[in-house]
Amino acid sequence: MDWIDNKTILTPTGGFLAAGYTHTINPYVGCAFARALCGTFCYAQHNQWITQGRPWGLFGAKQNLREVYRRDYDRLRKPRHGVSRPLKIYMSSSTDPYIPQEHRLGLTRSLLEEMVERPPDVLVIQTHNTLIRRDLDLILKLSALCELWVSLTVETDMDPVPGFPSHACPPAKRLDTLKVFREAGVRTQATLSPLMPLADPDEFALHLDESCERIIIDHYLLGDGSPNGMRTKRTDFVQRLEQAGYAEWTTLEKFWEVRNFLAGVLGAERVLVSCEGFNAVGKTWERRSRPMAHENAVDGNGRLEEESKEEEEQEKRRKELPARKEAPQREETPQRPSPSPRRVRYNSD
Ligand code: SF4
Repeated sequence: MDWIDNKTILTPTGGFLAAGYTHTINPYVGCAFARALCGTFCYAQHNQWITQGRPWGLFGAKQNLREVYRRDYDRLRKPRHGVSRPLKIYMSSSTDPYIPQEHRLGLTRSLLEEMVERPPDVLVIQTHNTLIRRDLDLILKLSALCELWVSLTVETDMDPVPGFPSHACPPAKRLDTLKVFREAGVRTQATLSPLMPLADPDEFALHLDESCERIIIDHYLLGDGSPNGMRTKRTDFVQRLEQAGYAEWTTLEKFWEVRNFLAGVLGAERVLVSCEGFNAVGKTWERRSRPMAHENAVDGNGRLEEESKEEEEQEKRRKELPARKEAPQREETPQRPSPSPRRVRYNSD
């Protein structure tokens, strides 16, 4: 693995993430989980800019992240000329910020330390690995300063999935990790992306209900960034599913059936779909979860009353931070509906 010098760490978004985020951050180049199950469908492996013709894998680690982030941040937020710009970060889009090497190198941790000094408006930390629990202390501090989501991919409840390599980290442990963050007061989401076969959808839905504020469900036919899942079809992902007897899970009919089932258990407002779901951050999400009466209340400055309260609350928290000892409370939690009594029969084969 090479060390890579970068002049910048904040990459402007385009395409799939452009509607919700201004930038992505990738502390590593490539990914150490390439040979795990998620490496079979990984959308980042199609990025020629990263692979440069090499088989998908871990290629490098970025140096001096704190300094580079500080410079990028100050250029955006404290410009000599012009106005401060919004900063909504998705970390990470083409690597996992908690690959095993992170344990030793601490690059993601160093970024979080710097972000406590220079918080973005929105931060989504997307990972497959429970190593994120190491950074609970920093994530708690940061979640008091910005809209922060801890986001773990949980594409299936099966471990192992017949016909596939082993998981980067067991799905049950990923759900446990989400629960730890949720109970600490951090916003949590599970991304079922891309949805893979489920062994016990009823049990899975109940685990999701207790560990996440919301889920985002996606299918390679909708969300791999190419028409009709063409990129994924160039890999052996679809073939593996078919050979293992899961052909129906390659269809959108099955996808919508599962989406509707999960919406019945968790409540439709907590089950977001594909691109729109991934981009539901900032006011998009806040408004989704508020009653209509609150949405229409406008204060003297023309802002939504709830927005004003939120900004005041955030400012108060910023000032209180050095003296803070206890875990911050979430600003709001969408109501959890009771699980629906409706149970759908699924075939796992
Ligand atoms: S962890 Fe993410 S970036 Fe890494 S191989 Fe899996 S899907 Fe790709």
